[in-house]
Amino acid sequence: MHYPASKLPQVGTTIFTTMSALAQRHQAINLSQGFPDFDGPAELLQRVGFHIAQGANQYAPMSGVPALRTAIAAKVLRCYGRQVDADSEVTVTSGATEALFAAISAVVKPGDEVLVFDPAYDSYEPAVTLNGGRTVHIALQPPTFAIDWAQVRQALTPRTRLIILNSPHNPSGTALAAADLQALQALVEGRDLLLLADEVYEHILFDGAAHQSLHRYPALAERALIVSSFGKTYHTTGWKVGYCIAPAPLMAEFRKIHQYLTFSTCTPVQLALADYLDAHPEHDAQLPAFYQAKRDGFNRAMAASRFRFSPAQGTYFQVMDYSALSDLPDTEFAVWLTERAGVAAIPLSVFYRQPPAQMRLVRFCFAKQDETLRQAAQRLAGL
Ligand code: PMP
Ligand code: GLN
Repeated sequence: MHYPASKLPQVGTTIFTTMSALAQRHQAINLSQGFPDFDGPAELLQRVGFHIAQGANQYAPMSGVPALRTAIAAKVLRCYGRQVDADSEVTVTSGATEALFAAISAVVKPGDEVLVFDPAYDSYEPAVTLNGGRTVHIALQPPTFAIDWAQVRQALTPRTRLIILNSPHNPSGTALAAADLQALQALVEGRDLLLLADEVYEHILFDGAAHQSLHRYPALAERALIVSSFGKTYHTTGWKVGYCIAPAPLMAEFRKIHQYLTFSTCTPVQLALADYLDAHPEHDAQLPAFYQAKRDGFNRAMAASRFRFSPAQGTYFQVMDYSALSDLPDTEFAVWLTERAGVAAIPLSVFYRQPPAQMRLVRFCFAKQDETLRQAAQRLAGL
């Protein structure tokens, strides 16, 4: 039997799975894969149990339960002043991962080029490849990871169909500023270009900064599929519920993919999220202070270490430079750190097609209990 050649020959096991497994094997403190080591709000957890007991255990509507779509539309209006139609422009998905895959599959045709900014979240490129598209990579340079919009303009060709953006940005912890969105607006004007905005960390932004959502920019939103995830906002990454918002014609195409990828998303969890969004609209607004305290606590303790860093602007990831400590490439350093120091981290080079030379950066997840962070920092400061 000859098995067919791989459709994704470059793809192996993701760095998140690899590092979490290594952390477990060495009983290291796992600051690698991004997930909280604490639960979401008790009331939210209870609502899932409630809806299961009430018998909400069959298929949800394909586009998502109406109450949740309505709550999402209300949130978008509250946070960004944009009115979206809950029936035709919002779809609930099984995590942002599904939304990203469905969005890319809905719009990328064979031969299309898709612009991605490296370091790029790992799920974008395989989806483009499977749809016959080609990713064009623009490498952002540490420490600022700023986008050079003149370079982006130069990378555009008649085949460019889609630009994928992610802000606040995983893994760098940076965020786009209003000037970036204005530059993007000038860039897309008059072009048949679509945008895919990965905004899963939309509510985790620090030092008083406002999230520059594409929802705020009508000229961008009219051509954008905007993705978010409840996993990040409600400390429930394992529930895998996210959503996509797009203008109705784009959303119709998105749903053609979504209905055959998963058809629908876990019913009692959707109902519980709808209840919680309605009852606690203040939750989103409290998240920055919650995570900023963790960022600052971790960074204060790490000031005693030989790692160098500037504080993350958003997300629950802190990037740190270890060049004062080791000359190892980052993938090897991350393994060394896990095995020898008992703290697991994520190397940054794996998110680049061509990593900057001599980049010595790892990413630590600070979505952890204060005691976990204290212990991790203590181990790292001793190196
Ligand atoms: N995009 C980015 C940038 C992420 O960090 C994540 C979280 N792992 C996802 C998408 C996927 O989100 P979800 O867990 O909801 O599928
Ligand atoms: N987004 C998470 C991270 O960046 C990981 C999600 C996953 O394991 N696929 O760590």
